[in-house]
Amino acid sequence: MSDARVNLLGLSREGLEEFFVGLGEKPFRARQLMGWMYRFGADDFAVMTDISKALREKLAQVAEIRVPVIRSLHHAADDTRKWMLSMDGGQAIETVFIPEPARGTLCISSQVGCAMDCAFCATGKQGFNRNLVAADIVGQVWLANRELGYQPDGDRIVTNVVFMGMGEPLANYRNVVPAIQVLLDDYGFGLSRRRVTVSTSGLVPQMERLGEECNVALAVSLHAADDALRDELVPINRRHPIAELLEACWRYAERRAGRHITFEYVLLDGVNDREEDMRRLAKLLSHRPAKVNLIPFNPFPGTEFKRSPDAVVERCRDFLLRKGIRTTIRRTRGDDIDAACGQLAGQVNDRMRYRLGTKLVSVSARAS
Ligand code: SAH
Ligand code: SF4
Repeated sequence: MSDARVNLLGLSREGLEEFFVGLGEKPFRARQLMGWMYRFGADDFAVMTDISKALREKLAQVAEIRVPVIRSLHHAADDTRKWMLSMDGGQAIETVFIPEPARGTLCISSQVGCAMDCAFCATGKQGFNRNLVAADIVGQVWLANRELGYQPDGDRIVTNVVFMGMGEPLANYRNVVPAIQVLLDDYGFGLSRRRVTVSTSGLVPQMERLGEECNVALAVSLHAADDALRDELVPINRRHPIAELLEACWRYAERRAGRHITFEYVLLDGVNDREEDMRRLAKLLSHRPAKVNLIPFNPFPGTEFKRSPDAVVERCRDFLLRKGIRTTIRRTRGDDIDAACGQLAGQVNDRMRYRLGTKLVSVSARAS
């Protein structure tokens, strides 16, 4: 029964307007409903007192506002919080809230697992089960607001959203875009395009579409400055090598009036942290709208990689800075609860016959 009802949480304003028109109602109902769902955090039609009782009853028959169920909450010493959210079939995804003095960043998941099989990523090692639907994605933000005690007239608690949790967001393009529309909509979460960041391992065709359709901030997981190494670390590189990826980045930046692309670079001891690696990286990025975010590798059980020593991390940063490239080191947050970058594993029943690293599978086909 519940499955036949439409989950309104996943619909963009346009989608919601179409839904109401389909019910023989005026499109403005969409804004009314979004106000209730996103400003007041309502998940029950009964409280929506400016909507007639008859319409509320009709809504309850054909629709629902269904949010993910929390399986567990972990609270780190540094106040980072990680929720594990139940998905179907006993699986789970993870959402992480990172409070900082001037902002609150929510790191959300886009897939149950990930098919991209990057060598140093705990999510990738879990394999892939399915794409999240838009309601699962929007639901993570909705839930965090509720759990963090957001009040309709209070300050925003979640000020930034980053697609840096489990999954490759651009391999789930069709669900990620409506979710982004809700994040940006004034009647949704009302975030500016600068405060929503999609992080991708480099799915070039979808990067082009994202630039046209959403124009949010972009982070690209580069991790290596030559194709031979990147082929090993980030297997999608075999399909879209560095030169092609960077061309797409510069086009993306142009569309965003020259705003910088963030290049994420996980520092792996002795693998990609040598001076020659930094020299190559600087050559690729200097005089471009690029900034680099160096990420000290976060280990997880079973990995063969090691984190570069702090002194090496700093040396890499200083080298890039000297070359005139804006460079920061990502501070590790929540590592005592496995909430740091690349440690999110959730619970995934792998359904893939082949991982990308072993054999190229059709990722773009899944994205359409
Ligand atoms: N799939 C997307 C977004 C999720 S991963 C992507 O790859 O960009 C978010 C970031 O964490 C990426 O830059 C990813 O490469 C990085 N990451 C993955 N595993 C990591 C690890 N073990 N330690 C540190 N960062 C890691
Ligand atoms: Fe997937 Fe990103 Fe992990 Fe690569 S780093 S396996 S793309 S989640």
